[in-house]
Formats: sequence, C-alpha cells, structure tokens
Amino acid sequence: NRRRPLRVLFLSSDTGGGHRASAEALAAQFRAHYPGTTYDLLDCWTDVESSWPYYTIRDAYKSLSSSPWKWRALYHVSNNVAYAKLADLHSHYMNEDLIRERMEGMDPDVVVSVHPTMNYVPLLAIRRISEKVGRDIPFFTVVTDFGSGHRHWFNKDVDKMYLASEPIKRIAQKVGGVPDEKIVMSGLPIRQDFASRADSLGGDRTTERGMSHVSSTKSMLGIDPSRRMVLVMGGGEGVGSLSDIVDELYAKFRTQGVDATVCVVCGRNEALRADLEARCWDEVVSRSLRSYESLRSRFYTKVLSMHAHRSRRIQLALDRAAAKAAEGRDVAERPGDVRVVPLGFVTNMADYMVAADVLVSKAGPGTIAEAASVGLPVMLTSYLPGQEAGNVDIVLNGGFGDFCEDPETIALEIACWLQEPELLKKMSRKAMRVGHPHAAEEIALDIGEMTQRWMERNEDRKKGVSGTDGP
Ligand code: UDP
Repeated sequence: NRRRPLRVLFLSSDTGGGHRASAEALAAQFRAHYPGTTYDLLDCWTDVESSWPYYTIRDAYKSLSSSPWKWRALYHVSNNVAYAKLADLHSHYMNEDLIRERMEGMDPDVVVSVHPTMNYVPLLAIRRISEKVGRDIPFFTVVTDFGSGHRHWFNKDVDKMYLASEPIKRIAQKVGGVPDEKIVMSGLPIRQDFASRADSLGGDRTTERGMSHVSSTKSMLGIDPSRRMVLVMGGGEGVGSLSDIVDELYAKFRTQGVDATVCVVCGRNEALRADLEARCWDEVVSRSLRSYESLRSRFYTKVLSMHAHRSRRIQLALDRAAAKAAEGRDVAERPGDVRVVPLGFVTNMADYMVAADVLVSKAGPGTIAEAASVGLPVMLTSYLPGQEAGNVDIVLNGGFGDFCEDPETIALEIACWLQEPELLKKMSRKAMRVGHPHAAEEIALDIGEMTQRWMERNEDRKKGVSGTDGP
C-alpha cells in the first residue's frame, strides 16, 4: 500500500526531558516512513489557557521533582481511584472546550499522547471532534515510563497503548483495566541514533565487531580507546550529587590504579561544568584517601549489604573486592591515570553511550532505555519516588546494573566493575536483552498503518461506500 503523509498531533509537556524526546523520536520515524508527514506538539495545559492548577504543571514539576519527599507525597496522594476520577471530572469541566477547540484547529489525522496527564480529557475531546467533522481520528497512548507508571497513563478507551515492560503492563491491566488486545509491548521509543548504533555494534558490544565499534567511537570523540570510559549524567538539567560522585570516581580510580576517562554530562548546569573545569584534583585525592583509610571496612559493609535484588555476579565481584580491601590490597602501587572531561548539553548521546563502559545516572526511563539499547551497564544513583522506583527494578532484575546513593560507595563499586572485564561483558549482554533500539520505528509503523486504514475508511464513508471493516 502507498504510504500517505500524515498529520500527527503529539500531546506532551516538558515535565522532564523524556516525554518530548520520545515524541521527537516518533516524529522522526513518521517522517521517514510516511514522506510529507507533518506534526505538532501540544501541551494541553500550558499551550491552552487552562485553569488553575493545570497551567502550573511544568513549573510545579520542576520544583517538586527536586524535593523527593514532596514528590512522593503528591505522587501517592494522586495515584488512587477517587483522586484520579475527581481530577478527570474537574479538568474536563474546566478545560475540555478549550482543549477541543485547539485540537480541532490543528486538524490531525491521528493523536499520540506521550504524557500521563493527557489521556482522558483530550480523548473525550477528539471523540467529539470526530463526531462533528464526520471523520474518525484514532488516539494512541505511548507510555514513556519504564518500570512503573501513574494510573493517569491508563485509559482503556484509547485505540491502542504501547508499553515498555511487563511490570507496566500489569499496572495497565490492573489499575486501568486496559484489555489485552489494545496493548502492544513495544519498548520505549528512543532516538534513531540508538538504533543505528545498536546495528553497528551487531547487537552485542562484547563481540570483536562490537568492541571495534566501541573503540572507533571513543577515538572519534577524542577519548583514549585503551582506557575505560565512565559516563556520568543527571538528566538534561545536570541534577543530583554529580560533583561529589565525580570527585569520588577520580579519587578511587587513582588509588586503585584504574586508568579511565570520566565524561560528565552537565546538561544545562553551566555552574557545575565551570566548577569541574577549575577543580584541583590532587586535593580531591588526598581528601578522599584520608576519609577512606579510616572508614574502609564500613564502606565495604555498606556496598555488600546494599541490595537484596542485586545480581549474583555483581555480588560475587563485590565480595572479591571487599576481601582485597580487608587485606589492604586495594591501594595500587601505580596510581590510575584518570582524566575528567566536563561536557555541556550533549546532542550526540548515542555516541557517548556507545563509547562508555559504564553509565552513572539518575533513574530516568529514557536514559535507561537508551543505555540498554546499546548494551551499557548502569549504576543508578537516585530516583523520583513512585514514578521512577520501578525503573530501578528493571535494572536490578535485568542484571545490568545496581542502585546506590552514596558517592563514595558508588565509586568503589564502579572501580570494582572496571577491574572485572568478564562481569562487564555479562552485564552488557543482559542490558542488550532489555533494550529495544528499534522501538520508535516499530511504534510509528504500527500507528501509521492503523491510521491509514481509518483514513481510507473515512474516505469510503464520505463517498458513500458501505461494508468496509471497522477500525
Ligand atoms: N539528554 C540529552 N543530552 C544531555 C542530557 C540528557 O540528550 O545533555 C537526554 C537523554 O539522552 C534522555 C533525556 O535527555 O533522552 C532524559 O530523559 P529521562 O527520561 O532519562 O529523564 P527525564 O529528564 O525525563 O526525567
């Protein structure tokens, strides 16, 4: 069948960077597979003059997500049936006409929501628009959370729902009552760069072909391919204890004789970048060594007792490191050669993730999905309570990383991973098993095919042809 251009309307909001990133990944695929496709991105609460508190959603997210206890309270209070129903009714009563008017003006062939708060009112609005214009317009939800998701994501009346993991499927069925036939297990839509990179790695970075691609990517980025590379990031805003984590990585790699490059994605956090550029690293080492000498046994106790769900392989590696430390053999005779490279907002993230041997990051769903797609082991350092807790389980149960909040313990564990090449290879293969590098393409094709069927049906109906199948 001829692929016709589509007019796609994405519903999203810049609460974090992940929703927009997913919408853009999908948009690129629609344009590639349906030439001439155009798309719009609508934030139903901020772009429309919506009522209080809906228009504050973006700013509220910024302030609440930087305060985990406030976030936890809001997430759990809002994540129950009574609250959700009330919020749906209230937002419908206050805003549906404004949202409907705006959506009708955009005249889409298909609507794709990539935001948890935009699956109820906009769906009712699009159904009313369809009725008014005499043309069925399909509505899809692509859930951009990974291991857990707020109940607002799941409306069983959408035409199809795209999900990234079994745990989130269980939530969709249990709290949203979404029927099996509407669910597509697709993975999280990530940028095409990651799919291309995964193909170049041959689906496994531990093979000769994969390793050679990692080496050439390191060289292309100006990173010494003979050393390990650790990529540290804190989302688009460069949040979290990045500065302390980098200090500890530097100090532990030096003392344990690990040669490595530490690339730090500061995102939009310019102050952090300037700070790292001006840092005196010798002082960092002596400070860290002093505290470590006196607290060595305590740190390993902390590392060892951290997680019941940690993979057995990681646990064994840590046991070996702890035994070495107990005998005082964890301080190398030759200090490691360590280079810290502060970066700003990175647009070629796939290159950096391919070049890296380990990623250190907060538990953002997009970041984890990207890392998994190119087989990159992950150390998670924080998560948003409720929303991102399930992402930690995806990594731990998937056996491709660990979770730890203390900078010194993070550094000890990563130093241990880097000294165990076989462990890194196993983790990488496990990451690849969780990754879906081609998810965006698969979702766009599925939505595109269904939308075209609906468009043809609409045209037949207009021409007065009867007897065509329903959507
Ligand atoms: N990102 C990027 N460049 C940067 C920092 C972050 O492209 O310098 C991207 C990252 O690759 C990911 C997104 O920003 O696609 C962050 O999404 P995630 O879901 O991990 O976290 P959120 O910001 O939504 O909480």
